[in-house]
Amino acid sequence: MTSIYWFRRDRRLADNPALQSALTQSDCLLPLTLRPIDETTPWGFARVGPHRHAFELQSLAGLAKSLASLGSALFQPQTPGIEGLLAVAQDNGIKDVFCEDIPAPEQQQAVSALRQAGLRVHALEQSALLPHAALPFEPDQAPLVFTEFRRQAEKHGVLPRQPLPAPSVLPALPASALNAEEFGAALRLQIGPDDKPVAASLPLTTPSAFPYQLADWHGDEISAQRHLHRYFSSDLPSHYKETRNQLIGTDYSTKFSPWLAVGAVTGAQIWQALNTYENVHGANDSTYWIWFELLWRDHFRLMMQRFGDKLFTPGGLTTEPSPITKPNQQGFDRWRSGRTGHRLIDAGMRELAATGYLSNRMRQIVASYLIHDLRGDWQAGAAWFEHCLIDFDVHSNQGNWAYIAGVGTDPRGGRRFNPDKQADDHDRHGQYRTLWDTP
Ligand code: FAD
Repeated sequence: MTSIYWFRRDRRLADNPALQSALTQSDCLLPLTLRPIDETTPWGFARVGPHRHAFELQSLAGLAKSLASLGSALFQPQTPGIEGLLAVAQDNGIKDVFCEDIPAPEQQQAVSALRQAGLRVHALEQSALLPHAALPFEPDQAPLVFTEFRRQAEKHGVLPRQPLPAPSVLPALPASALNAEEFGAALRLQIGPDDKPVAASLPLTTPSAFPYQLADWHGDEISAQRHLHRYFSSDLPSHYKETRNQLIGTDYSTKFSPWLAVGAVTGAQIWQALNTYENVHGANDSTYWIWFELLWRDHFRLMMQRFGDKLFTPGGLTTEPSPITKPNQQGFDRWRSGRTGHRLIDAGMRELAATGYLSNRMRQIVASYLIHDLRGDWQAGAAWFEHCLIDFDVHSNQGNWAYIAGVGTDPRGGRRFNPDKQADDHDRHGQYRTLWDTP
C-alpha cells in the first residue's frame, strides 16, 4: 500500500505510534507537512507571529533532516492547508493517510474534510500523557474539575505508555514523489545554505528564558532529546516546586512546553526520564509536581475533546451571558504592546513579544490583568498569546484563558491576580521589571 504520513503536532520519529502504524502498513510512504494558511485574527494581527513561525520552521527542518538520513524526505505541497494534501493524494492515486488525532475543533474539521473527499484517514490520539484507553472514564466524560480528574487517574494507577524507539528504516518514497515539481517544493527548499531554516536567523537580541535561536534550544527532535537528558542530569527536578514561580532565566521550570507543542518530545518520554530520575535520586514534592503540571495539560486536552467549539465562545462553558458587553479595545492595544503603565504587566508583555516565551506565573498575571482590571476580551488575549508563543498549544492556551476568565472549569469561578501583590511576591527587588523596563 502507498500512503501519506501527515505530520501535524508530532514532529518526531521516536515515540510516534501513528507513524509506526503507517510504517507497518505501507510499502511506500510519502511524509508530508502542510503549509499554514496565512490568517489574520479579528483583532487585526497575524495568527502566527515571527517567533512562533521561526520555532515551527526549526522543528520541521529537523524532521526533514531526520527523514533524509533514513533515505526519505519531508514534502510540503505548494497549496496551503488540506487542499495541498488533497492535491497530492489525487495526483498520485493515494487513498490512505496516517496522522495523529488532535482533539480540537479546527483540527477535527480538517480530518473530516479529508474523509469527505474520499480519503481513508487513520488518525490516532497519541499526544496526551495518559493513554485515553487507560482512563477510568470515557474521554468525553472526563471530570470537569482538575483535582477530580487527577484523583481518579492516580487512584486507578493510570500511567503513560512506554515510549517507542525511532524507526531505523523507513518505507521508500513513492516513485512519483521523486519528482518534487509535481508536489510543490520539498521542505528542504525553505532551508538556507548553512542548513538552517531561513526564519531561524531572527536574532537573539534580548535575554530569553527560552533562547530558541541557540542550537541547544532549536525546535527539532534532537535538541528536545538533548534538553530532556540535560534537565534530568541536573538536580533541577528536585527543586522544581521551589523555583517554578520565578521569572528570570532558563532553569526555573522544565521548559519542555515548546517542544511538546511541536511534538519534538512526548509526555511519555518525559515521564520515563522523570521516573528514572526518581529511581536514582529519590522522589520528592518537586519531582511529583512535574507530573502534576503535565496532568494539567492532559486535563485541558480532555476538556476540549468534551466541549469542543463551546470553549471558543465568549461565554465558554458557562450558561450565563458573558459579563463583558463592550470589550475594551484601547486597553487591549495598550496591554499587548506593553504600555499599560503597570510596570510588572508591561514587563511581561514586552518579554512575550520580544522572546515568544513567558513564565507560567507571568502568563497568569498578565491574563488576569487584561480580563479583570482592563475588562478586555479574554479571547483577544488568547489570540495574542497564540500569535506570540513558541509553545502555543490550542488546548492549554484556550483552557487556561477560559479558566482565568471564569468561563472554564474552575470551581472558584475565575481568578484575579492582584498585580501589586504579585510584584511583591515574585519580583520583590524589581529585577524582572528592570530587565524589561525599556519599551
Ligand atoms: P513547567 O512549569 O516546567 O511545567 C511542565 C509542563 O507541564 C509544561 O511543559 C506543560 O506541558 C505542563 N503545564 C504546566 N503548567 C500548565 C498549565 N497551567 N496548563 C497546562 N499545562 C501546563 N502552555 C502551553 O504549553 N501552551 C500554551 O499555549 C499555553 N498558554 C497558556 C496561557 C495562559 C493564560 C496560562 C496561564 C498558561 C498557559 N500555558 C500554556 C501553561 C503554562 O504556562 C506553560 O505550559 C508553561 O509555562 C510552560 O513552561 P514549562 O514547560 O517550563 O512549564
